[in-house]
Amino acid sequence: MSRASVLRSPREALLGLGPVVAVGLPLVLAGTLLSPYGKFLGTTALVLAIVGLSLGVVTGRTGMISLCQMGFAGLGAWVMLWFATHASGAPFLLAVLVSGLAMLPVSLLVSLPALRLRGVNLAVITLAFALTVQIVLSVNDFPGNSDGVTVTRPSWLETDGSFLWACAGIFVVIAVGLAVLDRTRLGASWRAVRHSERAAAALGRSVARVKLSSFALSAFIAGIAGALLAAQLGSVEIETFVPLTSLTAFAIAIMVAAQYPEGALLAGALGVFLPELFQSWNIPQDYTNLLFAVGAIVGLKGGLGGAEAIRDGLRRLIGANERPLLLDAPDGGAIAPAAAVAADRHDDPRGPAPAKDGTAALEIRGLSVTYGSVKALDDVSLRVEPGTVTALIGPNGAGKSTLVDTVTGFIRGYSGEILVDGHAIDGLLAHQRVRAGVRRSFQQDRTIPDLTVEQYLRLALGSHRGSARMSAAELQELLDFFDCPPQHRRLSGVDVASRRLVEAAAAVAARPSVVLLDEPAAGLPAAESERLAASIAQIPARFGPAVLLIEHDMELVVAAATQAVVLDFGKVIASGSPATVLSDSVVVSAYLGDEVSV
Ligand code: ADP
Ligand code: MG
Repeated sequence: MSRASVLRSPREALLGLGPVVAVGLPLVLAGTLLSPYGKFLGTTALVLAIVGLSLGVVTGRTGMISLCQMGFAGLGAWVMLWFATHASGAPFLLAVLVSGLAMLPVSLLVSLPALRLRGVNLAVITLAFALTVQIVLSVNDFPGNSDGVTVTRPSWLETDGSFLWACAGIFVVIAVGLAVLDRTRLGASWRAVRHSERAAAALGRSVARVKLSSFALSAFIAGIAGALLAAQLGSVEIETFVPLTSLTAFAIAIMVAAQYPEGALLAGALGVFLPELFQSWNIPQDYTNLLFAVGAIVGLKGGLGGAEAIRDGLRRLIGANERPLLLDAPDGGAIAPAAAVAADRHDDPRGPAPAKDGTAALEIRGLSVTYGSVKALDDVSLRVEPGTVTALIGPNGAGKSTLVDTVTGFIRGYSGEILVDGHAIDGLLAHQRVRAGVRRSFQQDRTIPDLTVEQYLRLALGSHRGSARMSAAELQELLDFFDCPPQHRRLSGVDVASRRLVEAAAAVAARPSVVLLDEPAAGLPAAESERLAASIAQIPARFGPAVLLIEHDMELVVAAATQAVVLDFGKVIASGSPATVLSDSVVVSAYLGDEVSV
């Protein structure tokens, strides 16, 4: 580990802890030192902060629109009141926990039909659920409400002060739990889905499962908040949990960036104290909602919620905001053609996968794809042999990216067959194809800006044939091999060219059968692209996978590939060794003479 990366962690920790203490401490202290009413408001703010944490999972981390978090809180309160009515002897904390757990099956019921939906469709379903909760609770009321049964707190939580501290403690436990989850593959998957569902699928994650886990966890947390509210107030009313309050909570969460604990605390404080303030100024409290809506729009437009903007500013202040790396000066000198590099390939003990009885790493048979009236691929057949780099070249619009999208499962309606290691993968979804041994990079950068280089690579490692593991040394070796930035650097602070290298490294990391690299050198300076060509040429020998290299730059093709296939208007017009193919007159005319000056 480099010195810089060792030093960065405590700084980053400080960065996180500072704002949390700055917002949280006054809240708790004010609640403790002030009047009983102050304590009451402080407790409610903490409970709403827990609702904020729940939105920080589903919306902040995963980018889903959930408009029913207060509905889950209402159901959580319902369970808590059920305990008070029917099982009043149950331990308090157990009842709170069960109120949260009870939301898991409910959230599954809500989200299962909606998982294939995104954006506004999911929003509509969650809003419909919030309305359903309102109707059901209005008709049936909360348990014990008509008989005057209330939640009684155990003696150690009887006073307002002790209950406030208990809520603060539960907030901390959940926030710490989420911080731990953030460091796991699941946490990284949430942020991958938030950034791009396609990127998450290409990393081998099931987008549906990632969303399900996020929604369920958020429902669990919201259920706990509801139970705590019932315990604070003794009994609750349906008005607290109507869709409008869910909408408000959502707007505040966006405004403050509730995925950060200080953001969630801010959400709680704003949700409670702003209406109080308005009331003391004789302004109708409903106007606060207007303010929250405007704040959410500002947050959405800027792409940053309050807490995120503050952390960004602090990062700049303490210099932890990494500037994009400047690429090292090139070594200079011409690079050897791939054929020459191939001679050195067998030093490495891991070596290329031996050719298994002539089975191709990737075989495409008669592949056709149409977009409306455009025939993007027309009866394309090609093979990528194990241990080789095969280039797929052709002018813009030839269908190269379409081929990558189809092979990797991002285009469903096609005819033809695709086999990996001799097994047909046509019936598989994108993330399942990753597990079957196909990895890809995207023509446009789709790395996940919220993750560090290391987190991104470990996420990519996750699901290839039963979770490949990689030691720190192996990870470093891989990063060095591709000239990637230091592993603790956040991808948002890395320049686009280096991100492409990280993406290529991630595609190789899990040692799949075949890697499809879609113009990996696009945007790289000439010298860097030469170095990348040399690295790509060595991928099969060093790491195992065969490579299908989609490329525009003919020098790179000659340097990296031993085979080339030329595509034009969706048809294969030539194939063979790069030198032969590039001197083919049909190929030259397809390119209209440009770029083929090798
Ligand atoms: P390449 O990667 O070789 O430049 P593409 O695969 O991106 O080519 O495109 C192949 C053809 O398909 C082009 O004519 C392009 O305009 C068309 N095409 C690509 N994507 C779409 C799409 N989503 N909808 C309609 N047409 C598309
Ligand atoms: Mg393309």
